[in-house]
Amino acid sequence: MKNRKPLMAANWKMNLSLDEARDLLAGIKGAAIDFDKVDVLVAPPFTTLQLARELLSGTDVFIAGQNMHWEAKGAFTGEISPLMLKEAGCTHVILGHSERRALFLETSETVNQKVEASIEAGLTPIVCIGETLEEREEEKTFDIIGAQLRESLKSKCQQGKLPEGLIMAYEPVWAIGTGKTATPEQAQEAHLFVRRWLKENVGHDTGEAIRILYGGSVRPENIKELMSQPDIDGALIGGASLRADSFLSIIRFYEG
Ligand code: PEP
Repeated sequence: MKNRKPLMAANWKMNLSLDEARDLLAGIKGAAIDFDKVDVLVAPPFTTLQLARELLSGTDVFIAGQNMHWEAKGAFTGEISPLMLKEAGCTHVILGHSERRALFLETSETVNQKVEASIEAGLTPIVCIGETLEEREEEKTFDIIGAQLRESLKSKCQQGKLPEGLIMAYEPVWAIGTGKTATPEQAQEAHLFVRRWLKENVGHDTGEAIRILYGGSVRPENIKELMSQPDIDGALIGGASLRADSFLSIIRFYEG
């Protein structure tokens, strides 16, 4: 029996116009969701955060940024600070998504700086890790995610200040947006590795408390089986979070 409350987190990426976002947010707001059973979060593009804040006010749905800079302010054209995310209504921030690592050359070192800055600013980081197909085929999965954990969480681990509220997301790169999901057993094996690493490096209780989300082609059809695994505590959902019907049926996995 897991003591960790499941979290279903929607990563909209660079999708949805304001009108489309309004419809989706209204669908989420109007839905019967048992918030005692599940936490729900949406991560819209920056320009939609304000709208999300307005439309979701009075609900228990959390709002996250999809990225941020580690500095508080300054000459960083195109970037956004932790405080700006907070002012826009965010409680969480996604850090180190594989698309940012692959397309925008983000490294575990910069993710570490962002993790530190987000915690200092009072935002909860959702820290993404995961191996590519090539790395899995070369049987390097655990080396890769071990190194990503070590480097991305470095400063807070060294200070002994990694909060229990921090959230990890294991997202095998080969499963993101491809329709290929890791089998529940493959996902559980990686989640167990992450859990053990956390227990060894930040302490048993913190490692037990930290939620580890699975991401990679999560759909209404596969969520129940994934959630039945002992170390899978929720999902980070891309494509299937862009429609109210599929996102809501993932959120309500607990009904079946
Ligand atoms: C993601 O972007 O984090 C993701 C898992 O995307 P998808 O669900 O579309 O695979």
